[in-house]
Amino acid sequence: MGRVTHSLLRLSTAMRSQAWEWAEGAGLTPTQGEILVLLMQRKGPMRLGEIARETALTAATTSDAVSTLEGKGLVEKRRALDDGRALAVRLTTRGRTAAKRAAQWPDFLSKAVGTLRSDEQSVFYRTLLKTIRQLEAQGHIPLHRMCVTCTYFEPSKNPKKTPHHCALLDLSLGDTDLRLDCSVHETADVATQKRTWKVFVQPV
Ligand code: SF4
Repeated sequence: MGRVTHSLLRLSTAMRSQAWEWAEGAGLTPTQGEILVLLMQRKGPMRLGEIARETALTAATTSDAVSTLEGKGLVEKRRALDDGRALAVRLTTRGRTAAKRAAQWPDFLSKAVGTLRSDEQSVFYRTLLKTIRQLEAQGHIPLHRMCVTCTYFEPSKNPKKTPHHCALLDLSLGDTDLRLDCSVHETADVATQKRTWKVFVQPV
């Protein structure tokens, strides 16, 4: 157990160092880069509160980072369409270009993971999903719009390479196809989540 945690810390050190290296080259901080990537992935405006929740930053840090990005012309704040009193943040054209670049810094990790066999990648991703879910349940990280908590997720439905199924999109899903941030995710009720989880964590 200690060695697993130690290994994860080593990965985290590598990621932090790569993130800073990229950010310094781009004239940003890793937090600002993360916000740009989040806005790009969401494909639409987000409120400050949503950004803070998704990035697990405080409201003050989020507000400062967004103001700096606004000052650099990478995001703009507009009135939210559904609530004239609230502000929504969105990328400018320059911000979208910067976000695309920011999304590339984890490539060093993708290359390393790419050297694993596909069965190793599958076990690795499944293990990461389980760990992320536990961290969510303990309140250490924000909830993700992930398959394993979705009302449409049917785990281990077929005993083959793509065992899972999405009832909404009628998609067969292998372990590495499972989504972590799905735009059409619908949170299942607690009883369904428990049932789904029990099936998902069965040894394969
Ligand atoms: S709707 Fe999205 S999150 Fe839900 S099961 Fe289908 S792919 Fe997964």
